[in-house]
Amino acid sequence: RKFIFVTGGVMSGLGKGITAASTGRLLANAGFDVTAVKIDPYLNVDAGTMNPFQHGEVYVLKDGGEVDLDLGNYERFLDIDMTFDHNVTTGKVYQEVIEKERAGDYLGKTVQIIPHITNDIKRRIREAAEGNDVCIVEVGGTVGDIEGMPYLEALRQFAHEEDDEDILFTHVTLVPYSKNGEQKTKPTQHSVKELRSIGLQPDILVGRCEDPLEQHTREKIALFCDVPTEAVFSNPDVADIYKVPLVVEDEELDEYVMDHLGLADEALPRSQR
Ligand code: ADP
Repeated sequence: RKFIFVTGGVMSGLGKGITAASTGRLLANAGFDVTAVKIDPYLNVDAGTMNPFQHGEVYVLKDGGEVDLDLGNYERFLDIDMTFDHNVTTGKVYQEVIEKERAGDYLGKTVQIIPHITNDIKRRIREAAEGNDVCIVEVGGTVGDIEGMPYLEALRQFAHEEDDEDILFTHVTLVPYSKNGEQKTKPTQHSVKELRSIGLQPDILVGRCEDPLEQHTREKIALFCDVPTEAVFSNPDVADIYKVPLVVEDEELDEYVMDHLGLADEALPRSQR
């Protein structure tokens, strides 16, 4: 089983979810069973109690789960039905761990973020992925947020436990324009530095920018973030988000992902997708 972990840098609302869902769509087109997990590092158990003016509309799943809007994107992009277990929140994770602690399941041990919380996060990801070829795991928020730390640590451990060929880290960041019209890579460099400081090295970088990234922007990001230039992709502004899979397909993001995960041989030929 393959896992694609998607993190975001610089700021939220970048298009991380759309990038993740688009990657999944292209893999589904290539013949793979794809599912997704959305991690929401907030302390709410679910989105049902959250003010829609502040957080956006609550999305209700077939099993009644009240979840983040992003799960709707995954259901529409991947053409699948998801369950409540595909939304992992800090509230859910802590509730479960504290209930187990009260029941004495930890046999007198000191209950800690590492390993008890991180183990529960890893278990939830593995369980949600069951029965699929590929599971896309999106970490809500931005790298460096205090709330997100246990999740990033859990992903680091997860990657350590699995074969290198089964894990891919995608980092989505903002590439703004300066006043003189230059694409600036410094915010990307800083957010990758932040990721690396917690032991995560991205395999792929996706730059959200008004326009596609210029060649020299890609080269600069590659050099500073220690990835091949071919691993730097663009997600430019489009009028309709359902065009994003086509935009990233033009850049051959799917081919790069499948090569990295050792899926290229099993993929349907391009003409049949
Ligand atoms: P994040 O997961 O980073 O918070 P989302 O994927 O939810 O971000 O996207 C944030 C907003 O940006 C959404 O309203 C989405 O429709 C929009 N968006 C995402 N990608 C693009 C794009 N390439 N062009 C235009 N709008 C986009």
